[in-house]
Amino acid sequence: MPKQKPKVRIKNFTSVALGLSKQQAVREAKRCLQCKKALCVKGCPVEIDIPAFIKLIAEGKFSQAAEKIREKNSLPAICGRVCPQETQCELTCILQKKKNPIAIGWLERFAADWQLSRKTKKKPKQRKKAKAAIVGSGPAGLTCAGELAKMGYKIDIFESLHKPGGVLVYGIPEFRLPKHTVEIEVDYIRSLGAEVRENMLIGKSFSLEELFAQGYRAIFIAVGAGLPQFLGIPGENLDRVYSANEFLTRVNLMKAYLFPEYDTPVNLSKKVAVIGGGNVAFDAARCALRLGADEVFLVYRRTEKEMPARDEEIENAKEEGLKFYLLTLPTKIIGDDNGYVQAMQCLKMRLGQPDQSGRRRPIPIEGSEFTLNVDTVIVAIGQRPNPLLAGATPELKIADKGTIVVDEATQRTNLKGVYAGGDITTGADTVISAMAAGKRAARAMNEYIMAA
Ligand code: FAD
Ligand code: SF4
Repeated sequence: MPKQKPKVRIKNFTSVALGLSKQQAVREAKRCLQCKKALCVKGCPVEIDIPAFIKLIAEGKFSQAAEKIREKNSLPAICGRVCPQETQCELTCILQKKKNPIAIGWLERFAADWQLSRKTKKKPKQRKKAKAAIVGSGPAGLTCAGELAKMGYKIDIFESLHKPGGVLVYGIPEFRLPKHTVEIEVDYIRSLGAEVRENMLIGKSFSLEELFAQGYRAIFIAVGAGLPQFLGIPGENLDRVYSANEFLTRVNLMKAYLFPEYDTPVNLSKKVAVIGGGNVAFDAARCALRLGADEVFLVYRRTEKEMPARDEEIENAKEEGLKFYLLTLPTKIIGDDNGYVQAMQCLKMRLGQPDQSGRRRPIPIEGSEFTLNVDTVIVAIGQRPNPLLAGATPELKIADKGTIVVDEATQRTNLKGVYAGGDITTGADTVISAMAAGKRAARAMNEYIMAA
């Protein structure tokens, strides 16, 4: 994959990975063995017919390749950029044994970009009379909307923000996922017959009951997990301590990186600590580097091996100059007389036995305290489900961690006609798992409406 050079890209917010050329894509596709028992498909949560789309690329039939992917995946230009293929289809590809799997994600991105640049529009099927409501326009909501629209339902997507896309627009930065790409994919869902109604906070603008009263026959809740978690250590209320959510929303959705053209400032200083080891932490750290911080430190309590972030993004971040404080736990944020961050007190850790997550548990090393001089701290240690809609719907069954309880096969909640999926049912997860839930829900909602 051709990429912008680190010294160049660190000064801009445009795409790091530039995409395969036609020749590169065809060459890569021709390496595929077209296995009869295609193990790659088993690794794909939405079971794309991977050998079939790769064969079409090898034959130069790029738009048909994209159509083949779209049979199972409504957002291929997005998945081709952000899915963790290295732990999914590329991990199960037979050529992984030779440590050289087919670059399935890059090929998916190539085919999708090729098709989108040619503005193919889908003709919506003849409309059924019934209409269904989707709450939230992230990958779960968009997928469910696309699937139901393809079946002929009239779909309204209610979104609390002024732009559709969920984390794809407010969380993941432009240099990993261009917002133009998200817009085109959302337009594609619209072209199938779904409408997006922005600035509608369900639970406040309308209750679920009111939506049913407006004639929606079934509702899919896909409101995500956007509630930031904090460490609960002294000093987290100081100035220049951000949750990664707030920081990334300012930078991405509110375009702080284009200040003063866009009127959203980010109060960032010279030495930034980002706490966490997932995609969110890496995105925040790489934004801070691009916004001009002198040094950005990633502070993580385990080792690189246990980091949940994508391998490709860890490599990119290293090339861009991100510095790592591994096996390190922040214990206190220290402020100056004006209430601004001045430093962060930390403790060194060692790894013990694996915990419930299967990763080795970090254990503090006594007497290993040290102080890290930083003037900004970004906390990226996880998100919890958005609580507003559940709070406004007391009859909805909620689990301890705030997730909505659903039947795993159908995404059905305890309320009649109400389905839920994506991060609101699993806690913070991945784009593709949210999409898979959206598909399951669409199937079940169709059966429910047809049977009623
Ligand atoms: P979301 O994408 O969170 O969408 C929920 C939508 O619902 C939002 O638009 C929200 O505004 C709206 N909403 C909330 N409440 C209401 C309401 N009451 N009424 C109406 N609308 C409402 N995953 C990957 O696979 N690869 C990655 O590289 C990756 N990077 C990430 C980077 C960041 C910074 C973050 C935060 C997450 C990342 N993830 C990644 C995780 C992935 O983005 C999420 O798992 C996925 O977006 C969840 O989809 P969703 O549809 O459930 O929710
Ligand atoms: Fe091609 Fe790998 Fe899938 Fe075989 S397992 S069909 S080589 S992508």
